[in-house]
Amino acid sequence: MLNVNNVQIVYDNVIEAVRDASLSVDEGQIVTLLGSNGAGKSTILKGISGVLYPEDGDIIGGTITLNGESLIGRKPDEIVRSGVVMVPEGRQLFEPLTVEENLMMGGITRSRSGATEALENVFDIFPRVKEKRSTIAGYLSGGEQQMVAIGRALMSSPRLLMLDEPSLGLAPQIIAEIFAAVSDLSKQNNVSVLLVEQNAELALSIASYAYIIENGRVVMDGPPDKLMDNEDVKEFYLGFS
Ligand code: ATP
Repeated sequence: MLNVNNVQIVYDNVIEAVRDASLSVDEGQIVTLLGSNGAGKSTILKGISGVLYPEDGDIIGGTITLNGESLIGRKPDEIVRSGVVMVPEGRQLFEPLTVEENLMMGGITRSRSGATEALENVFDIFPRVKEKRSTIAGYLSGGEQQMVAIGRALMSSPRLLMLDEPSLGLAPQIIAEIFAAVSDLSKQNNVSVLLVEQNAELALSIASYAYIIENGRVVMDGPPDKLMDNEDVKEFYLGFS
């Protein structure tokens, strides 16, 4: 459904963050992008979700299509309406607002009944979020905030959910809960997931395909078992050889 072909992204007319990236995500599939800090993973997600600033010299080349329709040049809100939603690194919740108010922000493009239905769906996926629905978002733990950020993205019923480092700084128990929920979303609701992760072992445990990005290029790709057999992947990403 999502096809990214030979994409190049330059910030401020000079910083070549993505040099050549091609990847695809099928319906209901979980795909992960792995790579070290600064490799260009978040920039690829920004390019897909339209949050670059051409007026400040950000340039994007190549093609990005969703079910054959180009996403390049479309505004971020149009891209959300077409079914592609990103959960940014650091979550970026409205901290003074309650959990439910944050979630309803994600349903702003929907009718009242559509948003109420989506809210119940989020509560089914994350029962912990339902328990905290009236709590101020800034008072939640990091893991609970990540659940709210994913829940807010789900309020628009996306077909493709893009997650930027969802495990960052969280305790193992809550990471396991979040990853189980993401896995269920793809299996039960047929949502496709594009997951950027530093924790390669974790990402490869739920993905069916992975791309390794280095210096703005895709340098290797394949299903998790193939990558986990590769000596370089073992040494550099999985921490053993
Ligand atoms: P990380 O895991 O650290 O987020 P990443 O693989 O997601 O790494 P990006 O955030 O995509 O990497 O960054 C790729 C390159 O682009 C880096 O050299 C970074 O410094 C640069 N970069 C990122 N955002 C901007 C920006 N808004 N303006 C200028 N340069 C940027």
